[in-house]
Amino acid sequence: MTAFGTVFMPEMIASEYNGTQWSQPAVVPSDSLTLHPGAHVFHYASTCFEGLKAFRHEDGSINIFRLDQNIRRMAQSTRLLALPEVDQALLEQMILEITERFAGDVPEPPGSMYIRPTHIGTEAAIGKAAAPSTTSLLYVLLSPVGDYFSGGSGTLRLLLQEEGMRCAPHMGEVKSGGNYASALPSILQARAEVKADQVLFCPHGEVQETGAANFLLFDGDEVITKSLDSTLLHGVTRNSVLQLARDMGMSVQERDLTVAELLERAAKPGCEAALSGTAAVLAPVGTLIHQGRDYKVGTGAAGELTQKLRRMMNDIQWGKAEDPHGWLTRVS
Ligand SMILES: *Cc1c(COP(=O)(O)O)cnc(C)c1O
Repeated sequence: MTAFGTVFMPEMIASEYNGTQWSQPAVVPSDSLTLHPGAHVFHYASTCFEGLKAFRHEDGSINIFRLDQNIRRMAQSTRLLALPEVDQALLEQMILEITERFAGDVPEPPGSMYIRPTHIGTEAAIGKAAAPSTTSLLYVLLSPVGDYFSGGSGTLRLLLQEEGMRCAPHMGEVKSGGNYASALPSILQARAEVKADQVLFCPHGEVQETGAANFLLFDGDEVITKSLDSTLLHGVTRNSVLQLARDMGMSVQERDLTVAELLERAAKPGCEAALSGTAAVLAPVGTLIHQGRDYKVGTGAAGELTQKLRRMMNDIQWGKAEDPHGWLTRVS
């Protein structure tokens, strides 16, 4: 089995901003790019990306989940990095065109086609540490992916980390390369020292998110997750799961959650916790590690509600259930 995101369709679609306008999008080989070594992105991290998926339905149609939300977030990341403004209609056209071109390669459920729009500053100007790149490149890569849970439905171990933070607090809502590099030392240390799978960043004792996923706590009919601000990524999966929970009549609480409250609630037998993101939808959390001690979440096994909500999301994505909120865009 190949690792998630390591297989690519042979072509991608790309458009260049030359300082004045975007070029006509072109389908080009996806295995190389030619950039000046002084390109802004390499030195000053003017880069952002998106992650969304296309799904094959039983009728043969290909459908993208929450295309509009991901395009909007890409435009916002772009703005917060002072990259040249993204033409949202152009990006939508690019995503639809390249996905349609490789519609025949979209895997059957539980697989899907992962779509990775990327925007980078290309100006060769190493003197521009305090100035934006006037030129940029926008491209859309495709990567067919299999079942995220093929390795089994084991639960995750999360280290609650109260010192430091994932990234600079004003950058958390930006899907930008530097944020992931800045979280790595904590994650590598947690893996080596306490065999954690991920770090749940809890700066100043407030639960935030992990390196690449949002955190949700389920307790009875309550769903608790941090409210949206600049310090965390505004996940589309988080938003979708909360909507389904509201539809089910659950009490959705977007608010601050302290480490103390989390540990107290997690000890109850009916409590569940999960990470949300496009790759896995919902991944169950079995253990929280805090100050050298392991705390089970509920029974420590994958929670029923977590699995139910994941199934509800999958059923909409795979066309097996109604799409009451109009989340799917049909490509072909
Ligand atoms: C992408 C990402 C998420 C999940 O966002 P989705 O839109 O649900 O895929 C959460 N946190 C971080 C830091 C991310 O980069």
